[in-house]
Amino acid sequence: MTQPPMPRADSSAGPTLESLRCPCGGGEVYGACCGRLHGRFAADGTLAAPTAEALMRSRYSAFALASSGVLSRAEEYLLATWAPETRPAQLALDGPADESGDDVHWLRLDVESTSGGGPFDDAGTVTFTAHFRTPAGRRAQHETSRFVRRSGVWLYRDGEVG
Ligand SMILES: [Zn+2]
Repeated sequence: MTQPPMPRADSSAGPTLESLRCPCGGGEVYGACCGRLHGRFAADGTLAAPTAEALMRSRYSAFALASSGVLSRAEEYLLATWAPETRPAQLALDGPADESGDDVHWLRLDVESTSGGGPFDDAGTVTFTAHFRTPAGRRAQHETSRFVRRSGVWLYRDGEVG
């Protein structure tokens, strides 16, 4: 069974990326959800996530859209939203580091709980499960990610897998 073709962001026919359900699973269309954050960054470099959870979702969506080839500046966004002290020099956008296969499709994000991470916090955590598919089958990664807010900007710091 073949994959349906992914819509292109610049397509003039059919649904646009902005009108599709957001990959993060938040229930909005992409253009009203993570697409707004990606768009602000693409326009002028602004990092606009209001909460740690919003940043988490936008980073997942960037991974998902990058692996589908429809978000061109995903790697820049992922690096820009990473705290400098833990930021890698470059990213592998194909999937989790422990997956050697390069054919990973992100399927779904389930945000399970959050602590802190709000507009008046300087730190927060988001616990989630990210579901993905490899040639070997479906997998899931459960993680608690830690976020920090500096000068009003939420950044991903690190995470504990398990
Ligand atoms: Zn979203």
